[in-house]
Amino acid sequence: MNTSRGGTLLRLHLIVGTTLAVLCTLLPVGPVRDVLYTTISFGCAALMAVGVRRHRPRAAAAWWLTTAGIAVWACADLLWAVYTWVLGVSPFPSPADALYLASYVLIASGFWLFVRARRGEGDREGVIDSLIFTVGFVLVSWVLLMRPGLESAGESTVARVLAAAYPLGDVLLLALLVRLLTTTGARTAAFSWLVAANALLLVADCAYQYVLMTTGYSGGIISLPWLLGYVAFAAAALHPSMRGLTDPGHGDGDTRFTRRRLAALTLASLVAPGTLLLQLAFHWRLEAWAVGLASVVLFLLVVLRMSGLLRHLEQQASRLADLARTDALTGLPNRRTSDAELERMQTRARAEGTALCVAVLDLDRFKSFNDTFGHQAGDRLLVQSAAAWREGLATAHAGTGPGRAAMLGRWGGEEFVLLLLGHDLASATAVADGLRTLTPAGQTFSAGVALWSGLESPAELFARADTALYLAKTAGRDRVVPAAAPPPVGDDAAGAAGVPVSRG
Ligand code: GH3
Ligand code: MG
Ligand code: MG
Repeated sequence: MNTSRGGTLLRLHLIVGTTLAVLCTLLPVGPVRDVLYTTISFGCAALMAVGVRRHRPRAAAAWWLTTAGIAVWACADLLWAVYTWVLGVSPFPSPADALYLASYVLIASGFWLFVRARRGEGDREGVIDSLIFTVGFVLVSWVLLMRPGLESAGESTVARVLAAAYPLGDVLLLALLVRLLTTTGARTAAFSWLVAANALLLVADCAYQYVLMTTGYSGGIISLPWLLGYVAFAAAALHPSMRGLTDPGHGDGDTRFTRRRLAALTLASLVAPGTLLLQLAFHWRLEAWAVGLASVVLFLLVVLRMSGLLRHLEQQASRLADLARTDALTGLPNRRTSDAELERMQTRARAEGTALCVAVLDLDRFKSFNDTFGHQAGDRLLVQSAAAWREGLATAHAGTGPGRAAMLGRWGGEEFVLLLLGHDLASATAVADGLRTLTPAGQTFSAGVALWSGLESPAELFARADTALYLAKTAGRDRVVPAAAPPPVGDDAAGAAGVPVSRG
């Protein structure tokens, strides 16, 4: 494929297409105008086919369906012109209407495939947002187009069906346009052309139906957005970026709740009360049922959207809390959590009159393990040790039984802390010694264990355990050393470990 040749064709198409579209709208209503009009619509359908064949997009079906929609639309234009200028009969209602309606379905199907290809994972929010916009649009369409259209259609069933079908076709186009805008795929030039094209068709359609009911159609500027819509569809297919238009997007719901989206959703939700207020202020006919129904649906959709956001926030908050509690490498409780747990255990020990011990564990000669086997192997040893000790602690039933609790945390580096509630010094030393034998990869640790005096601060308690650890290291490592009782402090020194001391 020749990119520069493609670029030239696109530029040429835009210049010629826009010029012809403007020229066509300036011409008076008549066969000449309609010949030019159908030339443009068929030309654009043909150029779309050229673009799809040239760029060979991955999800070609989406493009072919959209192209078929424009081609059928062009056929409808032609049939309309034939009825008007060749057969000299009114083209409404006529088989041209069936073609027009078929092209809505074809274009909507193409857009549906675009949406399916582009949506990211779990895009519930995109669906709800599109529904909110669509419901707002349906209300406006009902008030301005559908209801007046149905009333002016008279008794003819065909006319009545058509009066409802065209606005519904526009609802379909709008719903898929908004849904396309909520997808997370890349916003390329082709994407913008496609969005603009659909929007132009919608504007033209709504304006035409409105004019038809009020002043009556007499050509002119109304045709311009239709013709420019065709030109934009062809531009989308001719742009090289059309190939990536069906690439899936990434990201999840929360990132898509931008300020712009919030503003747009607010406006869409205000359509219902806004309609009511306008009807009251300008003494238009009150559409209480329509406004009431739309309000209920809009309100429920907004609540649904908010509940999704809330659930997302809760999940995020609990994920963050988990992250803040645990050590990233080993998954053990981190230092912050260990400190908090010690405080809780102190409260319990005081209240229940049970013993509380802390042990400080430190891998032996971990520096040389790192030096010999590498830092990553050192990390693996930390992870495996943590897992082995945690499992050992669970099977030792150290945390079970009345008044008992146990927790192993990573203090930092290759140091770990073991909290044992309901264990005296001998029992806690035995539990720590049991873990020592479980250390993987033939490695060992040294530990110091201290029994809480009931008066000591956590820092003082840890200092004693640390001193015992130092003794274990200097005595040759690979052992657990119980700490000496704390030095006497005034008259309260008699307070036995874990026994609350009354200072009254
Ligand atoms: P000792 O028996 O006296 O405790 O000797 P040691 O080598 O274990 O003691 P030292 O405190 O001198 O060294 C601790 C080493 O632990 C130093 C540091 O590189 C290593 N270390 C600390 N945190 C990590 C970690 O997260 N991953 C790895 N791989 N190494 C760590
Ligand atoms: Mg150390
Ligand atoms: Mg060490």
